[in-house]
Amino acid sequence: MKKEAMLYQKLDDKRVKCNVCAHRCVIRDKQRGICTTRLNEAGTLYTLIYGSLISRGSIDPIEKKPLYNYYPGHDIYSIASVGCNFHCTMCQNWSISQCFPNENGSKAICEEGEYKDNSYKLVQMTPSELIENIKQSGCELIAFTYNEPTIWHEYVMDVASLAKKANIKSVLVTNGFSTPEASDELVKVIDAANIDFKAFNDSFYKRVAKVKGLQPVLDTAKHWKSHGMHIEITNLIIPEENDNPIEIQNMCEWIVANLGPETPLHFSAYHPDYKMLNHSQTPITTLEKAFDIAHAAGLYYTYIGNVHSSKGNNTYCHKCNNILIERTGFTVSAINLDAENNCKNCGEPTFIKGIGKKRVGFWF
Ligand code: SF4
Repeated sequence: MKKEAMLYQKLDDKRVKCNVCAHRCVIRDKQRGICTTRLNEAGTLYTLIYGSLISRGSIDPIEKKPLYNYYPGHDIYSIASVGCNFHCTMCQNWSISQCFPNENGSKAICEEGEYKDNSYKLVQMTPSELIENIKQSGCELIAFTYNEPTIWHEYVMDVASLAKKANIKSVLVTNGFSTPEASDELVKVIDAANIDFKAFNDSFYKRVAKVKGLQPVLDTAKHWKSHGMHIEITNLIIPEENDNPIEIQNMCEWIVANLGPETPLHFSAYHPDYKMLNHSQTPITTLEKAFDIAHAAGLYYTYIGNVHSSKGNNTYCHKCNNILIERTGFTVSAINLDAENNCKNCGEPTFIKGIGKKRVGFWF
């Protein structure tokens, strides 16, 4: 749906400046921003994807987001739209993120030929219709995921505000390329986020993601954490691109110093995809080395994803090394926390939020 945007300034010559993400696009009349989802019409900025969803939603284990220390064992109602403010050559969700909406958000148009006519219909859903669907599903959490949710600001804000009233927790799975103004609004209604640190240097961001650098992502992570949001970090390790051990160590030390040692870090295995097909899959030895670096840097909770590793799937108490949460793949098989979410063995606080095991167990 087309709706007037939030967080923009009117400039001269019918130009506008969008302040929803750190690109801060200055957009001429009849043009769109870098994310392709925002259109300037005669000096008024519109989002074209308000309530435009790629499907009615799906139900995922929260571990798939990945969030491992937030409502472990729960299902989460997951929704997405199209578009992204990044154009990463290795995007693992490119068939959603690199499509753009038509002029009223009823259709997604895709550059590459996965769909027969390179387009597909978007489902239109108001925030209250979506909240009703979530309630009927039995889920107590919603994730804005698969494409970049920060560019979906208006819909995310409206849905998450209603969700809060209905006691449903809201989660972003995001590249974190936000602005302080947008973050000030998001922290009022969003409960948790997984932020993707694509690398710990500016040149990777410039070359691979086509954005100016890493700093806005770090600023967002600090901003959200300081306002009480539960934060987990993902780092997709690509051989010969961002697998330098010194850089990984710098990233881990930054997380400890700025977000706290209790911040979960997920190292994720890369599989060749989209326009980056010239690298091999991440060796398990690289991921396990990163795991050891994170542990030595003082992080309490490090995980390995997208590949089976005996090291990186369970949650251990950082004090007594007892298994706090045992998993097989995304399935939680045991939780060893007391009623206050402390370690059942030694009583150490774990910083894990949410408790219990709740799978609603159906897909549509
Ligand atoms: S959301 Fe970001 S990329 Fe999209 S128009 Fe606004 S500033 Fe540009």
